This record gives sequence, structure tokens and C-alpha cells, in this order.
Amino acid sequence: MADQDSLIEVRDLRTYFYLREGIVRAVDGASFTIRRGKTTGVVGESGCGKSVTAQSIMQIVPKPGRIVGGEITFHYGGPGAAKGGAQVKITDLAPQSDEMRAIRGSAIGMIFQEPMSSFSPVHTIGDQLSETILLHQSVSKGTAREIALQMMGHVGIANPERNFAAYPYQLSGGMRQRAMIAMALMLRPSLLIADEPTTALDVTTEAQILRLMRRLQGELGMAIMFITHDLGVIAEMADDVVVMYLGRVVEYAGVDAIFHEPRHPYLQALLRSIPRIGVKGGGRLAAIEGMVPNPLDIPAGCPFHPRCPELIPELCDVQTPPDTLLGQRHMVACHLYRREG
Ligand code: SF4
Repeated sequence: MADQDSLIEVRDLRTYFYLREGIVRAVDGASFTIRRGKTTGVVGESGCGKSVTAQSIMQIVPKPGRIVGGEITFHYGGPGAAKGGAQVKITDLAPQSDEMRAIRGSAIGMIFQEPMSSFSPVHTIGDQLSETILLHQSVSKGTAREIALQMMGHVGIANPERNFAAYPYQLSGGMRQRAMIAMALMLRPSLLIADEPTTALDVTTEAQILRLMRRLQGELGMAIMFITHDLGVIAEMADDVVVMYLGRVVEYAGVDAIFHEPRHPYLQALLRSIPRIGVKGGGRLAAIEGMVPNPLDIPAGCPFHPRCPELIPELCDVQTPPDTLLGQRHMVACHLYRREG
């Protein structure tokens, strides 16, 4: 699936948490590609490993978790760089190394559901945006202020001069979200990771923020990894989609194939469970029959087998299904398709 459009390649990523009660395999063999300038949606129920996958790319997995296997390759340096070989294996870097800090600071930006986690409450928005520039570029304070003001205008913060001196708590929820996006984009990253950035917002503000992200993507040419449990948002935002279940990528495909030719029984069940796409809340994942297994006790074989209507006895409950390519950019991990091939 890797080609010259690839910005990030995740191959067989395994990130485990070592708890006293046992090992949680939060990400357990995930493979997918994030294409340059495109939006990759990552979807699944809570606890399926979406956020831990993003934390692994940023090398910010909280303890007692760590990457225990697989590779994450970052092709940087602009379009075509993958051909020329300007690439770094993120998984070879120590999380606190200078190179990894530089990647986190400038090449990959991240936004969260809760904007306050991006800001210090005791410094003004303007100072924090300027500081980001001063830390990474040798420019004067005046220039950093100008760049910050420009970015505030760019993300639609009204009256940037006045809001430059505002503290985070003084902004409305939607404005704080815009400020967080400004912060993540100050250094023009080639990838923006957005972890459920609109889940806590009302429907109007959510629509505004999604529109803003699409506009900025068009203007800045960055890729977006958009994590959500809302298939309505996926339909609206994504070019490619990664569907996760219990730490595995069960299907990876272009957005049209995901909605019109879903192959994995879990994805098919998810799509059946949506009453209406395009209405906030209406696209949220409703319950699928059966319980999500305890993450400390993931079933043998295919992790979805206890809930799967198409279970093949003595195969699905014994053997892990391999990743099967159905087309150039369509992968499914299910024994049904392995038998076809
Ligand atoms: Fe269902 Fe078997 Fe496919 Fe898993 S591998 S989704 S249990 S058919």
C-alpha cells in the first residue's frame, strides 16, 4: 500500500500496556498508510486503539504503555520525497530525542477534544502562539507576534489583536478550538492529528470547525489523521478510512468503498447500526450485538468472533485472520476473504 504519496506508513504496529492485572494489547498489529495532503479517518468504538495509534506516531504513549513491535516510517521533505528517500523511522527514535522533539514540534501537529490540554491557563493565547515560533525558528519577538496574529486570523479568530492578550478561559469553546488549531499549525506541519476534536461541540460549532479544517487543509496542503467514533464525520471528512477493533485494523479502504462496499462483518454491523448519517449524534456508533470483550482477555483467533454473525467455527476462533488485499488500497482482515483468495 506504500507509494510515493505516502507520508506515514504504519506497519504491524504493536503498543502494549503492562498493568499489574496483565497486558493490554491496545494496538496489536496495525498497518495502514496516511497519504500526503489527504485525510485518513480512523474509526471504531472506545478502547479500540485509535488514540494509542496516534500517540504511537507522536511517541507520546503514556506509561506503562510502550511500542513493542512494528514500524512507523515518516516520509518528509515535501511531495515526491518518498521517491528520493527523505524518510525517518519514528520507531527507531527515542521518545525524548532531539529528532523526535523536532518532529513533534514542527512536522506533526496534534489537536484534542479538550483544547485546554494544549494551553497553559496562566499565559495569554498570543504569548503561547508566539512562544511556539520562538522555540523553533530564529526570528525576533515582533516577527513571532506577526506570524501568530496572522495565524489567528487564518483560523477565524475574530479580532486577533484583542484576543492575542486573552487567557484561554476567556474564549468561548469554539474560539478555544480555533486557537488550538492555530497552535498546532503554527509551524506548518505536514500532518495534523485530530483526536475527536469536535466531539464535545454543539452541532453548529462542529460544522464550522470541520469546514475550517477542510479549508486549512486545502490552503496548507497538510495530511490529516482524523480520529472519531462518528461515521457521519468520517463520511464528511475522510479520503481514506481505517476501521479498528480491539487494537487491530479490520478494514482499510477509500471512503467510497467503506460506505458502499464494506467487507468486514464488524464494519457491516457498524453501518447497519447507524440510523442516519449527517445528523450529529445520528452517526454515532450504536450498540452491536454482544459485548466488547475485556481488553485484558481478548478472544483467540479473530477478536470479533464472539460477536460475528458469519463466524466460521474452528477457524475464526482459532486462527488470527491475515491482512488480505482486495485492491490497491483496500485491505480486510477476515477469513471470509482469505478463503476467496
Ligand atoms: Fe467473522 Fe471470522 Fe471474519 Fe472474524 S474472521 S470477522 S469471526 S468471519
